[in-house]
Amino acid sequence: MAMQEIMVLSDLKKISDEQLEHRISAFQGTPTHKLQNWARTFEATPERIYTPHTIADTQLIVEAARRARVRVRAMGVWHSPSDLACSEGWIVIMSGIAGVISIDKEDRTITTHSGTLLRDINQALDVNNLAMPILGSISDQTIAGCLATATHGSGIDHHCMSSYVHSLSILVASGEVLECSRTLHPHLFNATLCSLGATGIILSVVLSVEEKFNLHQVTTAMSFDEYTSSPSSWLDRWRTAPYVKAFWLPQTGGVSLMQSYKAAQNTEKYQPQAPVSSTLFSFLLQPLLLVKRYVPAIAPLLSHLAWRCVFGQHQQRTDTSCNIFNMDCGLLQYTTEWSVPLSQAYECMLELNEWLVDENDVDFPLEVRISKADDILLSPANKHVGNQVETHFMWIGLIKYKPFNCRVRYRRIFRTFEDILRKYNGRAHWAKHSTQTPQEVGEKYSGLPKFMEIIHKYDEHGIFLNPFIDRHLICEKGDTYRHFKTHQVEAFGF
Ligand SMILES: Cc1cc2nc3c(=O)[nH]c(=O)nc-3n(C[C@H](O)[C@H](O)[C@H](O)COP(=O)(O)OP(=O)(O)OC[C@H]3O[C@@H](n4cnc5c(N)ncnc54)[C@H](O)[C@@H]3O)c2cc1C
Repeated sequence: MAMQEIMVLSDLKKISDEQLEHRISAFQGTPTHKLQNWARTFEATPERIYTPHTIADTQLIVEAARRARVRVRAMGVWHSPSDLACSEGWIVIMSGIAGVISIDKEDRTITTHSGTLLRDINQALDVNNLAMPILGSISDQTIAGCLATATHGSGIDHHCMSSYVHSLSILVASGEVLECSRTLHPHLFNATLCSLGATGIILSVVLSVEEKFNLHQVTTAMSFDEYTSSPSSWLDRWRTAPYVKAFWLPQTGGVSLMQSYKAAQNTEKYQPQAPVSSTLFSFLLQPLLLVKRYVPAIAPLLSHLAWRCVFGQHQQRTDTSCNIFNMDCGLLQYTTEWSVPLSQAYECMLELNEWLVDENDVDFPLEVRISKADDILLSPANKHVGNQVETHFMWIGLIKYKPFNCRVRYRRIFRTFEDILRKYNGRAHWAKHSTQTPQEVGEKYSGLPKFMEIIHKYDEHGIFLNPFIDRHLICEKGDTYRHFKTHQVEAFGF
């Protein structure tokens, strides 16, 4: 897809209110249309839904919203497990503005429209002998959705994906499209690298990429005691390979450590045959989780079965970087994930373990990952934590499955988890469940005042804000929050 034309600001301002309303009605969805996130934990019925296909369409929508003082929010494919992408006002679904614009093999950059799915970016890079430096567990999200939430993967030498943005173009509340980079509108650029959708609508992105690479992954099953035998050996396990992550099943006392090393492009790809027990377990998992919902006492048995059939296997495989980074995330689930400074992560793991070994309500596995610190104002991996400057962060994620999309109890365990993480200067992943208050965010992010200043500068009427931002960044549970929660969005969990 070629770079699209941008409407000149003076032309936009000349359009009458009636003409504007008429023109944007062409890409408006039906009023009864309901949106649901991937995990089916949130449902939204905003006042209006738009699906533009050009940058000019998007400018018209934002101009109309600004004139009407209605809140408007970009949405990707709503894979966020929270209401971050919702609005009680207008939602602009950006997956219609998608496609790779160009690839520069020399400079190793790719330019894409903001609604492009990661998997399409991966594919376009692959045919050009290039690859993303890092990916999270899936490639089903839009690139802008990943940037707005500082989506991360796992590797001691790797930052979150936003750090690999070279430059971007963004539509701000005035209707203007601004090119941003570390030298052009640098403050807006920084805020947009983890914007939570609040700085404007990202239209296109230039990403720095790498030469295509394969990965050889070695999975080692070990006991939690061996894994945490000493702080130095624990740290070494994260240092020995460029990409490392761990799946932890506290009730079994087991950790499955996955260390991935770069392999030559011509290395033969090798995928071991899944054991029959593993296939059978995956098939039975959902019914067993449903039984556990009524009989929590079977939790240890279920964890041990999962360890024996799936996670407790030593394995090796070689594949493309995308196939190793990505995985099958399986069943619908509630998710919370927090970053903890690496300097405090070891103690944090030990305290979590004390709680989790006997906790029947928690599901498996807990995912443990690592990323390099950054200087993005609202990134949970921002290097400034209180008076300390951190170099790395450990990410720890907890899940609660929703077998057959049934309601399950998750708030109590998530709350206990969060309280432990808070003791170790934890900060929540913005896309996932959290109870972080504006006061807490203010204490943990020294960049929050700067972030708010940038929002006010580019969006004086706050049209890009939403109830999520109100709740976590601006005010304690106010009227908007209650209205939104009860009437616009319903969390099915309890
Ligand atoms: C199964 C699964 C696995 C995941 N794995 C990981 C992982 O490994 N690591 C990790 O860090 N996260 C992970 N996530 C979280 C996911 O990466 C984020 O929720 C991401 O934001 C989803 O992208 P999206 O396109 O669905 O965005 P949405 O959920 O639709 O939106 C997220 C935010 O992006 C904003 N946004 C979207 N498009 C634009 C735009 N064009 N301009 C401005 N703002 C925009 C929205 O306003 C919102 O604030 C996972 C989620 C799921 C469901």
